[in-house]
Amino acid sequence: MTTIRNIFAAIDEFAPFSHQESWDNSGLLVGDPDAPVTKAVVTLDVTKAVVKEAKDEGAQLIVSHHPVLFHPAKTFLADSISYQLAAAGIGAICAHTSLDLAAEGVNHCLADRLGLTDQRPFVRENTRFYRKLVVFCPHEYTNRIHSAMKEAGAGTLGNYAGCAFVSPGEGRFLPLDEAKPFLGKPGEWEYAKEDRLEMICPPSKVEAVLGAMRKAHPYEEPAFDVFETTALADSDSLGLIGFLDSEQQPEEFAGYVGECLRCGGLRYVPGRRPVRRVAVLGGAGGDAVAKAAAVGADALVTGDVKHHQLLEAMEAGMTLVDAGHFSTEDVVVEPLCSRLAARFPQVAFHKSAVFGDPARYWTSSR
Ligand SMILES: [Zn+2]
Repeated sequence: MTTIRNIFAAIDEFAPFSHQESWDNSGLLVGDPDAPVTKAVVTLDVTKAVVKEAKDEGAQLIVSHHPVLFHPAKTFLADSISYQLAAAGIGAICAHTSLDLAAEGVNHCLADRLGLTDQRPFVRENTRFYRKLVVFCPHEYTNRIHSAMKEAGAGTLGNYAGCAFVSPGEGRFLPLDEAKPFLGKPGEWEYAKEDRLEMICPPSKVEAVLGAMRKAHPYEEPAFDVFETTALADSDSLGLIGFLDSEQQPEEFAGYVGECLRCGGLRYVPGRRPVRRVAVLGGAGGDAVAKAAAVGADALVTGDVKHHQLLEAMEAGMTLVDAGHFSTEDVVVEPLCSRLAARFPQVAFHKSAVFGDPARYWTSSR
């Protein structure tokens, strides 16, 4: 039996909910984590029509990108979407900025749809500085403590595992009356042959590594330090930059984006050079115009661009394509659906048939 909790955990594996932006509200927002799921609808947004669709089909879960609950609710009335979900016993898992930031999330899907090769991070977010853990170990236990810390996630540096520095020294301590020392006796000074063991560790693993260290360490009170190091960090990538197979003129490129994303229409600012190197940022990414120009993008593809951002691109001579919030993010829905269907073959996942771009496009002949 697959539960909402299982599906949540599978999404959390490739797009960790803990990586969401501080202002966001990604997560399991409605429902019972232990409820069984045999059918689920995947959609960019949860509208009343999507709730009805899920209900009519007997789905127990909706997986969406935009959160169904965002601002604190003061009422919970029958015409609200969250009420309708709860009343129908349908859960809602919403993966918003956690999916924007995931390596295989929105921007990867957008870059893939445009056929970009050699995709690299373009805007970095959520820098997480590594920690340096220093543990003082009785010499005979250094290897054991080192492997326990390695197994728990410390010491990985690029293509190297178990990286550590060990220096010998002397530890001194005076066990007090209540102590049950591994070395020495209460009331007598102990001079122990100890090693100083240093390993780096991503911040998310500090607790696990310290737990493993304590388990492997024979002392009642192991001595250790945790330092923040700015020498090493990881971060999420918001937006990608990659290459088209061949150069396109700005007008041609705008049409290409429209075709690739199956947009109803789009706005663009033609740049002063052909387009080969393309930055993408799904959703509202007009803030990234300067960054895209600075990293040498010939074009930025995003949505929800403001007037002054169009001007910014014009001044920079960079092509800017505003393909809309919907079209630049809806690209993630089908791949998310396929990923979940492959992971849970016993659950029928399908993309919402009723949710689409709410906008219509009118083109002037001027
Ligand atoms: Zn969005």
